[in-house]
Amino acid sequence: MLLLRYTTAFAFRSGSPPTTLPSILRLRPHQRQRQTLRALVSSSSTPSSSKVGFIGLGYMGAGMVRRLLEKGDDVIVWNRSVEKSEKLLSEYPVAGRVSIATSPKQVLEEVGEGLTFSMLSTPAAAREVFHAPNGILAGIKKGSKLIDCATLEVKDMQAFDSAVKVKGGSFLEAPVSGSKVPAETGQLLFLTGGNEEVFEEAMPHLSAMGKASFFLGDTGKGTEMKLVVNMIMATMMSSLSEGLALADKANLSTEDVVKVLSLGAMANPLFNLKGPKIIKDDHTVNFPLKHAQKDLAFALALAEKVGVEVPAAAAANEGYVAALEQGEGEKDFSAVARVVMK
Ligand code: NAP
Repeated sequence: MLLLRYTTAFAFRSGSPPTTLPSILRLRPHQRQRQTLRALVSSSSTPSSSKVGFIGLGYMGAGMVRRLLEKGDDVIVWNRSVEKSEKLLSEYPVAGRVSIATSPKQVLEEVGEGLTFSMLSTPAAAREVFHAPNGILAGIKKGSKLIDCATLEVKDMQAFDSAVKVKGGSFLEAPVSGSKVPAETGQLLFLTGGNEEVFEEAMPHLSAMGKASFFLGDTGKGTEMKLVVNMIMATMMSSLSEGLALADKANLSTEDVVKVLSLGAMANPLFNLKGPKIIKDDHTVNFPLKHAQKDLAFALALAEKVGVEVPAAAAANEGYVAALEQGEGEKDFSAVARVVMK
């Protein structure tokens, strides 16, 4: 709890000198290397209100935008299915709190030099919305600031960054770790890269939506960190499913497996949350399996690019692909267990 409160007030930046910090956050010498996270006090940890744009009110965006509204920001939103925007408006009917734009272009234009967040599902969706005639890029002008929070490929983020810069705008990639409930409760982790001034300006907003924010360097580094994290998570889910399948066939209680795991060195919130649900075959969606497989595929491509073998993740990916083929893509990614635990 203490750590949570402290981390809420901090941003973490790769490559900056450590400043005065509570001992709980001080960094050890072995951490002072290229990819380490050095902490600094965020100059803007006290939330300030403003008008921000938000594009994409899906599982994640819906929770994130509500955190911004609770912080006091007024928002101008665009979502492909207008019902989600209208639902938000009905929850915040006071004039000026929620405005619905007719296009992503209008969001950018109305926000002017303020911040616009986008949270779309896949690279194809993000590219479509970015390049459409009334899309994001069409609304970018000198001084515009775009923050893309989706999990895409590095090359997508870099292409968006370049295109925004050409028109005089600034870009920050900010993929998130955490799922639907952390998005609703402001407990996300932001893994950012790109324009550091936008990162600083965004801190009050990131702090409203998340418990910690990391600035990791050039555009692409945030996405790489996100892919590493999700590769580990998806592989863990696959491994948990196999363990439960093995226990079941060996006539052990699967509930006991979850209990034993929770009390040992492998205790973690993912197993605690998903273990009992897998046992009940409850795969109510928080993080859709189709997105988990997308992220695994991107992580495998990254591994190939940098020349690292990741056989466990590659094997896990086969399970997710099989689950997709069997029609489980819209369920939670825990539904990979349905392939394993036949
Ligand atoms: P989602 O609910 O499946 O979709 C997000 C948004 O994308 C929706 O607003 C959807 O519009 C829009 N969209 C999809 N295709 C579109 C298109 N062709 N044109 C315009 N809009 C389109 O995704 P999500 O779960 O919120 O995830 C968003 C991103 O965050 C993904 O990159 C995901 O990998 C990442 N992420 C997700 C989680 C999670 O737990 N869900 C956790 C961390 C990161 P409609 O409302 O009209 O369908």
